[in-house]
Amino acid sequence: MDNSQKQIIVITLFLIIGVSTSIAYFNWQISEDQKKLIINHKQNRVNILQASIHERFSSHIKIIEETLLHSIHTKFSETDKINPELNGVPEFMEIDQRQELRNLLESNPRFESIGLFLPNGDIYLAEPFLSQLNLPQKNYAFRDWYVGAINTAGVYVSEPYETHYTNEKTIALSAAIRDGENIVGIFHTTLQLDFLRKLIDVQIQEPETMWYFVDENGKIGMARGDQTEYDEAFFSKLIHSLDSDGGYLQEEFFGKEQLVVYEASELGTKDWFLFLIQPSKQAFTPIVAAQYLTQSLLIVSIVVISGFGYIVFWQNTKNITIRKQLEKSNQKLSLMLEKSHEVDREKEEFSAMITHELKTPLVPILGHIKMLSKKDMIGNLNEEQLDSVQVIERNAKRLEKLINDIMDARKLDIDKMKFDIDDVVLDEFLANLKSNYQEVLNKKHIKFVLDNQVKGMTLNTDADRIRQVFGNLISNAIKFVPSDGGKITVGATKKEDFIQFYVKDNGIGISKDKQSHLFQKFYQVDTTHTRKIQGTGLGLVICKGIIEKLGGSIWVESDGKNGSTFFFTLPIKRA
Ligand code: ADP
Repeated sequence: MDNSQKQIIVITLFLIIGVSTSIAYFNWQISEDQKKLIINHKQNRVNILQASIHERFSSHIKIIEETLLHSIHTKFSETDKINPELNGVPEFMEIDQRQELRNLLESNPRFESIGLFLPNGDIYLAEPFLSQLNLPQKNYAFRDWYVGAINTAGVYVSEPYETHYTNEKTIALSAAIRDGENIVGIFHTTLQLDFLRKLIDVQIQEPETMWYFVDENGKIGMARGDQTEYDEAFFSKLIHSLDSDGGYLQEEFFGKEQLVVYEASELGTKDWFLFLIQPSKQAFTPIVAAQYLTQSLLIVSIVVISGFGYIVFWQNTKNITIRKQLEKSNQKLSLMLEKSHEVDREKEEFSAMITHELKTPLVPILGHIKMLSKKDMIGNLNEEQLDSVQVIERNAKRLEKLINDIMDARKLDIDKMKFDIDDVVLDEFLANLKSNYQEVLNKKHIKFVLDNQVKGMTLNTDADRIRQVFGNLISNAIKFVPSDGGKITVGATKKEDFIQFYVKDNGIGISKDKQSHLFQKFYQVDTTHTRKIQGTGLGLVICKGIIEKLGGSIWVESDGKNGSTFFFTLPIKRA
């Protein structure tokens, strides 16, 4: 696997891990906050309920305290009238007292019955009278409410129990009736607890939520309407494990994890607890919903990041394949290039060998031709034979020129042309040039003009190579000027740091589209087999090579009709 591919995979994995961790962290934080809110809300409800329960109990206790202060006047003076059959004094005795108690029952219907007991726990009387008749015992000194009343200064609140009279869940509220320091009797009433159901059931309606109102020993006072299983041992244990009067806990009860919110409240001498128990899953439903949302968010993020990662990976793989292909083709190309260089080298060597091998036999050929043409040297030739020898000489010279051109072009190509740099006095150089060509040109009836505008100049350059360039340009001009009225001008002017030379003719000119090709190897304007003017197509290439090596440039100007002018420059000071 490529390095960049590994990097893409690592970055994608990091992104996935990073995003997942952040989402999980935010989810956890949101869940915790929501959890706190939910618990707080439940706690508030339990507190409010507990407060109103407390308020109702207190108001009933107050009623009893009032009654004990103002309405119980009996001195228990009719004890001798106690009839065991009637579980106390008869119905028509203690009429006033009985009326007081009936009034109290009527105005407080939650009191089930009221009884007055003797200090030893014997029943004295009870209202309604029916409840007196139904009493299963004659003496109640064994009951906690009796003991509580004797030992408590105010109203004693008993543990919850079901009465014999109605089988309703109640608590007993009892108090000692005192005359000064002496206990003269015991007041006892039972308070029905089903009002708690009415109070709490209305408030707590969530499914599977249970509530229990329990005394500090785990005895159930009341529970949710449809809640029938009271496990007192469980609550006793639970209450003992609590370390404050209010709060919450989350534990596994009844086979499920449950959220338990509770609040304690003091009534009489005991604490009473209100428990709200709900399966955690249900209690925290909004959190579960939020968790589903974050889970979906997590999945979507992972899918999106993986998708992007895949696209980048795929794109990268494509790029790598393309790069590899390119590398391969590059390798192929450089191999080919190397081969072509090798071929070039071989070609060079071959052409060097050929030109050399061609040139060697030319020397004796030309020598012998010269000897043949000279009178009395080898023997005299007749007119026709002399003509033939001249044809041979012309063609041998053409061949010599071609070979020389090829050799020069090749030397320039491989940068092997030798230059012999020296001071060249231009006046002299140009004058010599004129005298060299004057005779030939006169013979051909071509006018030759020298336009030297740089009198007294010396150039540091290679005179022979410049002569070669002029030779080429002049012989080209000679080829193209008209046979009648031909004119060639050779000139030199100063152009800034350069001397600009020119060879101007009044020949056929060179069309604009051909001009740019002139300096390419073997280029000839007229390539038809029948063209009159011969050449190799190398002359201008050699000129360009020489001039550029000497630090100048060469170009042509022609309108394509009225002759051509070849310009070239040479630097006055050599670099
Ligand atoms: P060649 O040896 O064929 O003359 P050159 O490179 O010297 O090769 O010239 C290239 C071509 O440029 C020639 O074939 C000719 O057609 C054209 N040319 C060169 N000089 C002139 C000129 N003075 N007038 C018109 N055409 C020219």
